[in-house]
Amino acid sequence: MRPVYLDNNATTRTDPLVVEAMLPFFSEHFGNASSTHAFGAHVGEAVKAARKQLQALLGAAFDHEIIFTSGGTEADSAAILSALETQEGRDEIVTTTVEHPAILTLVAHLEKTRGTRVHLIGVDRHGRLDLDAYGKALSPRTAIASVMWANNETGTLFPVAELAEMARQAGALFHTDAVQAVGKVPIDLKSTAIDMLSLSGHKLHGPKGIGALYVKKGVKFRPLIRGGHQERGRRGGTENVPGVIGLGAAADLALKHMEAERTHVKALRDRLEQGILQQVSHALLNGDGDNRLPNTANIAFEYLDGEAVLHNLNKAGIAASTGSACTSGSTEPSHVLRAMNLPASALHGAIRLSLSRENTGEDVDRVLDVLPEIITRLRAMSPAWLAHEGAGQQGEGVAGHV
Ligand SMILES: *Cc1c(COP(=O)(O)O)cnc(C)c1O
Repeated sequence: MRPVYLDNNATTRTDPLVVEAMLPFFSEHFGNASSTHAFGAHVGEAVKAARKQLQALLGAAFDHEIIFTSGGTEADSAAILSALETQEGRDEIVTTTVEHPAILTLVAHLEKTRGTRVHLIGVDRHGRLDLDAYGKALSPRTAIASVMWANNETGTLFPVAELAEMARQAGALFHTDAVQAVGKVPIDLKSTAIDMLSLSGHKLHGPKGIGALYVKKGVKFRPLIRGGHQERGRRGGTENVPGVIGLGAAADLALKHMEAERTHVKALRDRLEQGILQQVSHALLNGDGDNRLPNTANIAFEYLDGEAVLHNLNKAGIAASTGSACTSGSTEPSHVLRAMNLPASALHGAIRLSLSRENTGEDVDRVLDVLPEIITRLRAMSPAWLAHEGAGQQGEGVAGHV
């Protein structure tokens, strides 16, 4: 049976058309983009074209606002560290409790080693940011506010355009980790106050090890990696040309397919989600209702361990995740669900199903076929479930839209 891949927020398959676009840049067009001879010239032109493809996907005003990086993590670090260097008299960071480890690990390190004041803004039960606390944390000391566009675990979308305006009013820079949003939702940076944005190739059917940082024209920037004059001196090191070409091709495909995908993928996701919630009791949908990425479903099965559910799905040829790839393998509950104050009975039982344009109706059928049985079987062996049942609290439960 064909394996079912529902872990697209962890990584996506590189689109075959992307691979095809990349291949010549390992062989015929191997030149250094910075060389002035014929071998380099063609490559330089191709890199320029890829930058324009990315510019189009982001709705950026200028192609030189895009700096190629090694991925989302590097772009996040470059944005935060640059702001701390360029923002005279400002040394504080405002961010959220539900960011990706690429931000959270960095700011914890800055706090510990430099004494940087970090304001971590919380979310409510649906994963929505506490706007009031965000507004209050912004001050003349804020160097940068960084809020993700879409959460990788629940798909919840944050009002980044509004948050960026608020930061601008306070004289602070605004950065968004948009790794999960780029290619999935329309973006038009030129019409926003967003100063910096991070993205990653492998989350949008591009290759791994390539990403980009958008830096709005006029925003001061200090490079994270110093060296040659590549990327106008903003990121040293010979360009990852095949990666850049692949990212450009992936951006182009994402833009072409976006509208169709948003409907197709969302319809599959909704059918999957509704099917599970209808067939399984005590299942909670995590995240902000319709204000979510079209591809992500995060569902907690009360009184169960999500890892056990995943293990059984894996045996049935279905790949999903508990959420952050960086915390999987440990029994620690996700920092995102913890921040959302999930009931203790649900905290360990969450799984994330993340779809892409490559999924089909058959994939959804397969999951709906096997998942309810897995849950029933595991619950029959779960001491927590049996204790709950024994306590006579059985009933319709709190399944559905919480
Ligand atoms: C995957 C991811 C990253 C990291 O990107 P890499 O290219 O793997 O370094 C950062 N932020 C979010 C929200 C992600 O989902």
